[in-house]
Amino acid sequence: MILKGDQSTIRSINRALVLNLLRQHGALGRNELAERTRLSSAAVTGVVAELIEQGWVIEGRSGPPRGGRPPVLLEIAYDAWHAVGVKVMEDALEVVLTNLRTEVVARNHVQLVSTEPHALIEQVVVEARALLEASGRSPERLVGLGVGMAGVIDPAEGVCVYSPFLHWQEVPVRRLLEEKLSRPVHLDNDVNALATAEMLFGWGKDACNFAVVTVGRGIGAGLVVNGEIYRGASGGAGELGHTVSEAGGRLCECGKRGCLEAYAAEPALLAQAKERFPEFNRHRFQIAELLEAAEGGHEGVRALLKEAGERLGVALANLVNLFNPELIVIAGEGVRLGAEFFGPMEQSLRQNAFNGLARDLEVHLDPWGDDAWARGAAGLIIQREVFARPLL
Ligand SMILES: [Zn+2]
Repeated sequence: MILKGDQSTIRSINRALVLNLLRQHGALGRNELAERTRLSSAAVTGVVAELIEQGWVIEGRSGPPRGGRPPVLLEIAYDAWHAVGVKVMEDALEVVLTNLRTEVVARNHVQLVSTEPHALIEQVVVEARALLEASGRSPERLVGLGVGMAGVIDPAEGVCVYSPFLHWQEVPVRRLLEEKLSRPVHLDNDVNALATAEMLFGWGKDACNFAVVTVGRGIGAGLVVNGEIYRGASGGAGELGHTVSEAGGRLCECGKRGCLEAYAAEPALLAQAKERFPEFNRHRFQIAELLEAAEGGHEGVRALLKEAGERLGVALANLVNLFNPELIVIAGEGVRLGAEFFGPMEQSLRQNAFNGLARDLEVHLDPWGDDAWARGAAGLIIQREVFARPLL
């Protein structure tokens, strides 16, 4: 491969190489970095010196001796930098301040003042500044701000193309935020934000091909193909919830019939329970009560969870046949649906996937925290500003 690029581009590539190795393997010595990057010792020493000077890397403890003196191990200075992550919801903002490992330093959850774009952007700016100030961390060490939201997003342009919840079309979120914050901003679909965070520090750290499937109010998928988020032609890839589970079946929120989401997302589970069992047909009926009924031995509810889990399993088998991932991570508040739902899901996935494709497939349920979406959003800007390789 011929690398076109000047010295500074090559330096940026080497810098990303070193930072990603330290992210994946933890502390490493200079010699080991040179071996793994296949760069010369002099080149590694140069890149490392620059990273230390700029505060990205620190020299830590000594490693096991390899012949002569024990090597000094290098680590990423995870706590020396921070990022803001924002999850925009239909009625609220979840805002977190994280370190470089997307560990939460401070967080806030606020109701939206307005869904009008300029007002909402202003609220994001106010909340981000307030969090930074309250934490006492330096604004100079803020890597930037990541925003995750549902809908069709153009991450290259930083534009929300369409948001069904906020009724936005073509809102230049990144430009509006960067003008006010004077820091880098990255906008993406919320499921892709989660997938990015999984790729950096989660189950996907060592995987090149995997899917993050979110279950909850809706069902979505973030697809990582050859180490990159797969977006499709117009940023709409991964709408797993609107793949057809039953042609001509139940009406979906999207207006079409028979979508997976109309059977297996949480609102659909509640709706079906109400239809089937009159005792649940009351105004305020919540998922917690549905799960209580299942735990209490309600056979009808258990059957409903099993059917819905199996439908998700079939959809995942189709996804496995199309993408052949090595790993599927299940995330989202729907993880609380538990074994009554995910047991049948996994069984059905393995039964229906094409011979051999699911044999080595790992399936993990991610323990869910309310700030996971916003942490994912912080991961977006950390990925872009710290770990991404420059485009040639
Ligand atoms: Zn649909």
